[in-house]
Amino acid sequence: MSDKHHRFPEGYGNQHGVLTVSGRTVIEWIAEHGSPLFLYDTNLMRKQVTKTRAALPATVKLHYAMKANPHPAIVAFMAGETDGLDIASGGELAIALAAGVSPGKISFAGPGKTDVELRDAIVAGIKLNLESELEALRVAAMAASLGTAARVAVRVNPAFEIKGASMRMGGSAQPFGIDEERVPALLATLGEVPFVFEGFHVYAGSQSLNADQIIESQEKTLEMLVRLSAAAPCPPAVFNIGGGFGVPYFPGDMPLDIVKVGSALAEQIAQLPESLRHTEIVVELGRYLVAESGVYICNVLDKKTSYGETFLITDGGLHHQLAASGQFGQVLRRNYPIMIATNLSGKPTHKVTVTGCLCTPLDRLAYNMPLPDANPGDLVAVFLAGAYGASASPKDFLNHPYATEIII
Ligand SMILES: *Cc1c(COP(=O)(O)O)cnc(C)c1O
Repeated sequence: MSDKHHRFPEGYGNQHGVLTVSGRTVIEWIAEHGSPLFLYDTNLMRKQVTKTRAALPATVKLHYAMKANPHPAIVAFMAGETDGLDIASGGELAIALAAGVSPGKISFAGPGKTDVELRDAIVAGIKLNLESELEALRVAAMAASLGTAARVAVRVNPAFEIKGASMRMGGSAQPFGIDEERVPALLATLGEVPFVFEGFHVYAGSQSLNADQIIESQEKTLEMLVRLSAAAPCPPAVFNIGGGFGVPYFPGDMPLDIVKVGSALAEQIAQLPESLRHTEIVVELGRYLVAESGVYICNVLDKKTSYGETFLITDGGLHHQLAASGQFGQVLRRNYPIMIATNLSGKPTHKVTVTGCLCTPLDRLAYNMPLPDANPGDLVAVFLAGAYGASASPKDFLNHPYATEIII
């Protein structure tokens, strides 16, 4: 694996050895906004949405899961580019509503919703994805006390195993969703409570690069939903079949063949029974839509040798970009795509470890990675920082300044 290198990412430029983002060098971006810096390029997001829509059947609706990047400006942008927004907390609801997203386009999944979250969601008129039988009872009681009906979908935890996903959220004992075998009993009670039943939600895994395994999951998911629909109080308006489309983070990772996934989905949809022809099929994606549009830039402050190893010490770190340190859902630590942004044309001459400025051995952005020569004043770029970067990092740990986030 060590002989494999990360590819130069699409959509970025190289101007005399210096990385450009949206046509400007990172030196200019840092001069204007300071270091460390997240740059998110909405043109790249739009391209990714366009590519995704082109691959998926035209009737499939595309949702953005804002957990991947909840920056208010990105939420507003992505709400405009996609057909709906998936949220997972009251805080995300507040951001979405403040960004002007129409409540009709928002659905709220996630375990452990508080009474305040349930109330705010029902009052706002967004859809609640029910994660347990008890949650269904709580939603019913809340809707009754508000004298209104709650829009709900039932999140199903499938009985079949989900393959290929590096983060599993279904197909086994889970805090998410209601076990497939228990769903018919719940559906039988839905007609009697103040609910508007809108359909089903299945989200069983994340970060899969394997088209065949995604196709298999989609097929089994649709089969299951056809079966469960027979027990529904009315024909389901929506099947949200999840997503889990991954991005290639590590050397040797191959991008997902989304065209293959899309054409298989078209065939699967064509085989739905007549009674479900008008059911809206939703695919919800987070990282796949935004990860590649973001880059994290930090500045080399120090360079040292310790017992034969070279360290580049930056003003960034895991407090901004935890995932690059390997501590966000990775089993084996592998290097994220990292480059010396001010020496792109240099040959990777020797292995270096790039650290942040936190006083903890956990704070490594790259470990023993072949990189070109770099010195204090050079800039380091961490790619794929558009998803699970700033918002998924412990920014108060050690009380260094927050990174600036710029939306281009
Ligand atoms: C986390 C999550 C997503 C987004 O996952 P990605 O891997 O970023 O695509 C979508 N839906 C639900 C329910 C989630 O929990």
